Amino acid sequence: MRDTCWPTTATISGRMRPQKMVTLDVEGVLIPEVWVNLALRTGINELKRTTRDEPNYDRLMTYRLEILDREGVTMGDLRAVLADMGPLDGAREFLDGLRGDYQVILLSDTFQQFASPLMKQLGNPAILCHQLRVKDDRIVDYVLRIDDHKRRSVEAFRSLNYQVVAAGDSYNDLSMIRAANAGALFNAPTNVIEENQDLPAFDSYDELRSWIDSTDPAPGV
Ligand SMILES: [Mg+2]
Repeated sequence: MRDTCWPTTATISGRMRPQKMVTLDVEGVLIPEVWVNLALRTGINELKRTTRDEPNYDRLMTYRLEILDREGVTMGDLRAVLADMGPLDGAREFLDGLRGDYQVILLSDTFQQFASPLMKQLGNPAILCHQLRVKDDRIVDYVLRIDDHKRRSVEAFRSLNYQVVAAGDSYNDLSMIRAANAGALFNAPTNVIEENQDLPAFDSYDELRSWIDSTDPAPGV
């Protein structure tokens, strides 16, 4: 006898079209690069190296933490940098508009300690990111929530019958962008654009929003 309480997956997907979910990178897309700001503030130029320059995130973070340790930069110093930072021009308005029409999740390789003050300025959107290990105000390590979490989050959302549209600016966004139903580069540097010429690339929030709206399904469906 058929269980009438629990519809089958086929029944669920047959009743509705997938809902659109937008996943966005954060640094370089909605807020400035935290580490570049830290480099400018401390005068430590080696900290200007970002995911735009180094595709291997573990290598990049190990490099950064070694520099912070060597130079004696504390979590308190980082908090001071974060307190002075705000979102990129137009980011809050773009995000507010997007959240009005779609489910939006920020997928970031930043850390909870960095994200918290900045997310308040963006209206507290949902964000999935990592954690720093801090001891006596010194950053001693970092902990990835899960390996390749951007791609795996997109795959999980797709398995929940969401149509995922993704955008980011750097190497660490490519697996997310390529796992999505539709993906684009935003504010990406020339090297990333040239190495991924099959991806649409945008530099303004208006262009990105128009492209997101143009992907299927249409807003409100
Ligand atoms: Mg980025």
